[in-house]
Amino acid sequence: MSEHECSGDCKNCAHAAEEQADAIDCRIRHNLAGVKNAVVVLSGKGGVGKSTVAANLAAALALAGRKVGLLDVDVHGPSTVEMLGLRGTPLMATEDGRIRPADASGVKTMSVGLAVDDPDAAIVWRGPMKLGVIQQFLSQVDWGELDYLIVDAPPGTGDEPLTVCQSLPDPLGAIVVTTPQRVAAADVSRSLAFCDQLAFPVVGIVENMSGFVCPHCGEKVEIFSSGGADELAKKYDAPILGRIPLDPSVCASGDAGVPFMRSAAGSPVGQAFAQIVAALEKAAAERGSRP
Ligand code: ADP
Repeated sequence: MSEHECSGDCKNCAHAAEEQADAIDCRIRHNLAGVKNAVVVLSGKGGVGKSTVAANLAAALALAGRKVGLLDVDVHGPSTVEMLGLRGTPLMATEDGRIRPADASGVKTMSVGLAVDDPDAAIVWRGPMKLGVIQQFLSQVDWGELDYLIVDAPPGTGDEPLTVCQSLPDPLGAIVVTTPQRVAAADVSRSLAFCDQLAFPVVGIVENMSGFVCPHCGEKVEIFSSGGADELAKKYDAPILGRIPLDPSVCASGDAGVPFMRSAAGSPVGQAFAQIVAALEKAAAERGSRP
């Protein structure tokens, strides 16, 4: 049979692959029908605090009374499970055979880390496996009705951020996390260029580790050089949603598995997150999907 006569029902031809991709998109759209605002947290560089921002943003939104989900698609380095104290939580199925997300004090959470018993085990997966598991998280996890689904993507512009950004139907957009140094901003610039290339909306930039407020005298010390986030904001015409200072308790909370936001909402870090939440709610309201 020549190519133009293909009925599209064989297993190997291009038509079958296209149909399969359409079927997955359709399942994702159907499964995420109750999600009002999907937000992807991106960064061009590891260690800038992207997972900390994603986990605390989810906790802050839940504390504000929003229905929140947190999806960690950092397949090789899933830190959400530790940061939310979910290690050892068993994965359960729903009655209709979907995956039930873990509950982290009101934040519905899913991560490859929940499926791995040994936290030290290396997750060695090639591109197609990563694509498959991310699509499964989007199409087969019972997210239910959510005001916000926060997606924590690994650093860079590789398979995982690409898959998630291309698979989310009608996203609110990306929050791009950077630190103040110009060297970090150069890497993070690629994440903003990535969004531009995919025509993926950008909600704004978060500058993390933005100075250190001395707990003794209250003076703010700029540990890193500054100005990187401002340059990015100008270059990409994206707002700065908030600047989160360095605070040793943020690190201690992450290690203890309790999001900082639950215990110290009134601190400078807590106030920075409140500002980011307000900016996010404004962005959601402006596109007409305020919870
Ligand atoms: P990424 O996801 O970008 O790799 P993480 O969120 O894992 O980065 O953060 C890296 C480390 O920095 C963690 O130990 C985290 O607790 C710490 N950290 C992040 N933000 C802050 C902050 N504002 N103050 C103090 N420590 C922070």
